[in-house]
Amino acid sequence: MYQYRCACCNTVVSSTDTSCPECGSHSIRSPFGFWFFCIVTCLVMAVGIIGGKIYLQQNDEEPQKVISDLFHVTEKTKPSE
Ligand SMILES: [Zn+2]
Repeated sequence: MYQYRCACCNTVVSSTDTSCPECGSHSIRSPFGFWFFCIVTCLVMAVGIIGGKIYLQQNDEEPQKVISDLFHVTEKTKPSE
């Protein structure tokens, strides 16, 4: 399962091979491509979430002010009953 394979004929090739011994294709599929993609995606998400939390903590007073402003605006724009 964790082997380098030819992308054309799916022959198992060694990790040092740059071309397929069966068909001569240079498209060798890495077994770690999918996992590498997963890990990178997770890292990017984690950095984004952590960065967002730090941003919210640094601007802790700003969002509250904005929310209270919005609340006041909605209070003002409410139709009088
Ligand atoms: Zn091949």
